[in-house]
Amino acid sequence: MAAGALPSSTLMCGIFGIYGHEEASNLAYLGLHALQHRGQESAGMVASDGKQLAAFKAMGHVADIFTEAVLKGLPGSAAIGHVRYSTAGMSEVKNAQPFMVGYAGGKLAVAHNGNIVNATALRDALEKEGAIFQSDSDTEVLVHLIARSREATLEKRIREALSRVEGAYSLLFLTEGRLIAVRDPMGFRPLVLGRLRGGHVLASETCALDLIEAEYLREIQPGEMVVISEAGLETKTLFPSPQLGRCIFEHVYFARPDSTLFGMSVYEARKRMGRQLAREQPAQGDLVIAVPDSGVPAAIGYAQESGIDYDVGLIRSHYIGRTFIEPQQSIRHFGVKLKLSAVREVLKGKRVVVIDDSIVRGTTSRKIVKMLKAAGATEVHLRISSPPTRWPCYYGIDTPSRQELIASSHTEEEIARYVTADSLGYLSLEGLGAAVGDPAGSSFCNACFSGKYLTALADVPRPNLRVV
Ligand code: AMP
Repeated sequence: MAAGALPSSTLMCGIFGIYGHEEASNLAYLGLHALQHRGQESAGMVASDGKQLAAFKAMGHVADIFTEAVLKGLPGSAAIGHVRYSTAGMSEVKNAQPFMVGYAGGKLAVAHNGNIVNATALRDALEKEGAIFQSDSDTEVLVHLIARSREATLEKRIREALSRVEGAYSLLFLTEGRLIAVRDPMGFRPLVLGRLRGGHVLASETCALDLIEAEYLREIQPGEMVVISEAGLETKTLFPSPQLGRCIFEHVYFARPDSTLFGMSVYEARKRMGRQLAREQPAQGDLVIAVPDSGVPAAIGYAQESGIDYDVGLIRSHYIGRTFIEPQQSIRHFGVKLKLSAVREVLKGKRVVVIDDSIVRGTTSRKIVKMLKAAGATEVHLRISSPPTRWPCYYGIDTPSRQELIASSHTEEEIARYVTADSLGYLSLEGLGAAVGDPAGSSFCNACFSGKYLTALADVPRPNLRVV
């Protein structure tokens, strides 16, 4: 586990659910495939045939895990699925989701995207009362709270459990007869509702609906619970939403550009970030290039606004295995070269403006700048389509500790020197807000840039955190 990360967390995940379609698990497989960018470490699915739940989860990619035989073992007309990414120490199948448990009311499966920020405190209390945990995951804490609730119905049990939980959660629950979706009151993580013929679909992002040709209906509202059963779709407000905390970093980096997120096209938002960046941080260059893939829409926006030609100076390989071992320590920068390669013919003799979405530790940028110069670029001007990342995320994006974030302890000039760029410019927080239609930033969580955390952070040991 990275220092500073929460002890038990469900970082960077994607969730998918379907109810009322005879090919539920096949469609959930496709949905998870579309959400693979949200987590590549493990994947799982639970399906219901109306009488019982069947589950399968494993480490690895969706396409490798769900073979025809596995999908045949997941029969029924309802299913939920999960793709998960987490930090190194917790890379075990016991943490893969959905979680399935038996409780007094029957069987229950849960898939969670987000991060519960008081999970450790709740877990300690539960363990003192005799609860036994099978995983390190924050989601299991929620499952215990639901199982222990004395409320009569599952919906009430979920509500009671969630009233004790703080942080980010987009959740899907599956029982033999019901699919339940809940989003936390601040709406940190996305969750959308769609329709496919007579059935309903839920997904972290609309790109999963598009793949299976489901119709996008709407977002699940912050604080809302939706219950889908044979009786149809019911909705209720579980918790009022006094403040929105939609994750701005989903728009910057995490979500797929073809998704509509928080009611807005990710691609268009990123292009606006690039345009705004060009206005705020102009550069003298012969061409604009992107760090693919996440930097591409912003680079196109930057080029359009600045009038500088856009070209493809870096190529990304999509075939990197997960278990790569560097053959020799002496081969420097092998890691990033495996992922990105420079196009000499484009770069030679050129002053290059290179656009990336963010700098975390600074190691990637440093390698990229050196790679561009080695390929013949005469100057490299690095422009970043978000503000300096100074604070760790505790709401479901995997970020290293504050100490490891280069911008937490270095000025922009120092970072430029470290990454060996001829100049460096970041988008302002106001500019980023404007690009997502909220210049004041009042409906988004931007804690990774501002340090303004929107909840108490019971599990976070360090005192140097600002909570608003
Ligand atoms: P670094 O080398 O640590 O500065 O990494 C910066 C690169 O990581 C940028 O190209 C980003 O697109 C990408 N990035 C930003 N946030 C994340 C994240 N949470 N997980 C993985 N990659 C990220």
